[in-house]
Amino acid sequence: MFGTFGGPRLLLRRLREVMLEPVSPQARLDKIVVHIAASMVAEVCSVYVLRADGILELYATEGLNREAVHLTTLRKGEGLVGLIAETAEPLSLADAQLHPTFSYHPETGEEIYSSFLGVPILRGGNTLGVLVVQNKARRTYPEEEVEALQTTAMLLAEMIASGEIQSLALPGKDIALGRPVTLKGTPIADGVGLGHVVLHEPRIIVKQLVADDIRRENQRLDDAIDAMRHSLDLLIESRNVGAGEHRDVLETFRLFAHDRGWLRRLREAVATGLTAEAAVERVQNDTRAKLQRQTNPYLRERLHDLDDLANRLLHQLTGLEFVAAHENLANNSIIIARSMGPAALLEYDRSKIRGLVLEETGELSHVAIVARALGIAGVGNVANIVDLAEPGDAIIVDGVLGDVHLRPPPDIERSYAEKARLRARKQAQYQKLHGVPPVTKNGIEIGLHMNAGMLVDLQHIEETGAASVGLFRTEFQFMLAPRLPKMSEQESFYRAVLDAAGSKPITFRTLDIGSDKVLPYLEKIEEENPALGWRAIRIGLDRPGLLRSQLRALLRAGSGRDLRIMFPMVATVEEFETAKSLVGSELIHLRDHGRPPPANISLGVMIEVPAILWQLDEICKRASFLSVGSNDLVQFIFAADRENKRVAARFDPLSVPVLQALKLIADKARSHATPLALCGEIAGRPLEAMVLLAIGYRELSMAAASIGPVKAMVLATDLKETEDYVLSLLEEAGAGQSLRDTLRKFARAKNIPV
Ligand code: PEP
Ligand code: MG
Repeated sequence: MFGTFGGPRLLLRRLREVMLEPVSPQARLDKIVVHIAASMVAEVCSVYVLRADGILELYATEGLNREAVHLTTLRKGEGLVGLIAETAEPLSLADAQLHPTFSYHPETGEEIYSSFLGVPILRGGNTLGVLVVQNKARRTYPEEEVEALQTTAMLLAEMIASGEIQSLALPGKDIALGRPVTLKGTPIADGVGLGHVVLHEPRIIVKQLVADDIRRENQRLDDAIDAMRHSLDLLIESRNVGAGEHRDVLETFRLFAHDRGWLRRLREAVATGLTAEAAVERVQNDTRAKLQRQTNPYLRERLHDLDDLANRLLHQLTGLEFVAAHENLANNSIIIARSMGPAALLEYDRSKIRGLVLEETGELSHVAIVARALGIAGVGNVANIVDLAEPGDAIIVDGVLGDVHLRPPPDIERSYAEKARLRARKQAQYQKLHGVPPVTKNGIEIGLHMNAGMLVDLQHIEETGAASVGLFRTEFQFMLAPRLPKMSEQESFYRAVLDAAGSKPITFRTLDIGSDKVLPYLEKIEEENPALGWRAIRIGLDRPGLLRSQLRALLRAGSGRDLRIMFPMVATVEEFETAKSLVGSELIHLRDHGRPPPANISLGVMIEVPAILWQLDEICKRASFLSVGSNDLVQFIFAADRENKRVAARFDPLSVPVLQALKLIADKARSHATPLALCGEIAGRPLEAMVLLAIGYRELSMAAASIGPVKAMVLATDLKETEDYVLSLLEEAGAGQSLRDTLRKFARAKNIPV
């Protein structure tokens, strides 16, 4: 029931005029509520703005007592206005006072009004305030009036976002937009980053909200929808997408692009007088608000699809060329995205990125692996960050605790700046050790090697002064690729890795997939206990085609050079023998094809399955070298899943059972003169590494960032003294408890930095 002013379109036009008038912000807001009330034949129209402290404050009213402006406040969830702010959904009631959440504020004089219609003021899915109309008579607000009020709320959202309304805030009562927020996520890559927000997919800001010609806007909307559907069809056909998940995703998109409900809502929004792009944004706001409250993962996914579609439509409508965020990147950039593939992250200039924040991704995701390799602090699973962050906002990423501080207050910023400085200072100290050989105080040289899995890792070999790559995890190439890499692709990758390492050796580990390392394009096998299941060399031997093509690629890439290959998860001598015979067959194949073989081939065994501890004599005789995979070995010794946070921290590698097992391996290897290294995480922790030296290890392979701290430990250690201490401690302490505290005390007393 629109009054003498006519329908919502006329109202929008009036409001646009008001927006352009040279009046004060309060006067403008006062005029707006008068226009809305008159247009909707309501006795009351009020605007509540959400403050930074989470309180809703009355900012303007027509119909209620004017004295209540800037005086009446409500908490989120309190009263009908608070309820709308909390749910981000419109509320229409013929008899408001009967509603259980109705709360009465005498200063407003609103007791005489029966009917109530309120809508959230939304921007990017965030609630900035609430817009309300009220009537004395009992009445039901028809759907088109709800729509019209929502559209009007968009104009107010722009006014709030433009900063104009901020100037009306009472001292210390800042409005919510732009307030500091701390968000919790999952740490995905170690480190602390301070910088400014860069949105991976730049948002389109719709400038023209009010339409001049509705027919034209309808046409533009139809054309854009057609073009978008067409481009989706093309995408599905041209990519030649086969069956499987990727096709499913695109098909779902196509389905949504024809979704009647969605299209109807877009048309209705245009009918209220919005431009086509503003209509898309309106509907997108609703979708986002629903998305934020949705806990059902399936529905969340569907709503996400709608959100993505709206983005495509906005690009189509504005004709804006998509300028990739990685171009013109500023220094100290923190990249923010809903989700991201590993390749997209690699497109950025590493030297300018300080951090990465993602709405969706876990510690084991591929992009997390890349972030860690690049040394970028990262936090994943941060709900809503894309909508909360504005490009250029100050932001701090704490990849240790999993915290993200958006627009941090000065004290937080200061304390983090200090943390970052400390880290940098330590890094600089380690840098100074670069040319210093890792020799203990009593003159024993220790081999410090690096673990790697990607080409980008190889840059660290020079930076850190690592002696070699002691573990090259070949599965990363497979995990990052969209499909199974061809033999020729593997070959050129291994060649590039060998080239990048120059004269330093690389120990390639054959595919270690299965368990937590899943290849998205291979059929997923459900297993009760994947860590104890079909993985690593077990797959390699059961499906020799896969392992043979990898060995062929390695042998070809290693032509004329020294080639080192090791096999993961070997449980019996026979498994190693079978693997060796596959290498033999591939060598014959190589010769038959007239290709020169590697100058020298070393075949090693990873010691990570406890059963192999009772076959060490046989293994030592047959293997060119051993490398202990302590991550797996420890989880199997304690029967405690390394990925399960509840049990992973329960048992300590620095305890007698593990140290005795590790010592047994070292003793056997020495007696057979078989070269031995250790490449699990403990090699990179100074205290653990100190103990490893004491029980006989001389070669340690670790993450590049650990080489500095471990070298500092080596330089400060008198190995004779440490060995005596640790060995006698091991003899005395018969039980399974942790020796960590005792060992740390020893290290401190001896000034060993651990
Ligand atoms: C290990 O198990 O210790 C190891 C180095 O291999 P990964 O962590 O890849 O299983
Ligand atoms: Mg392992």
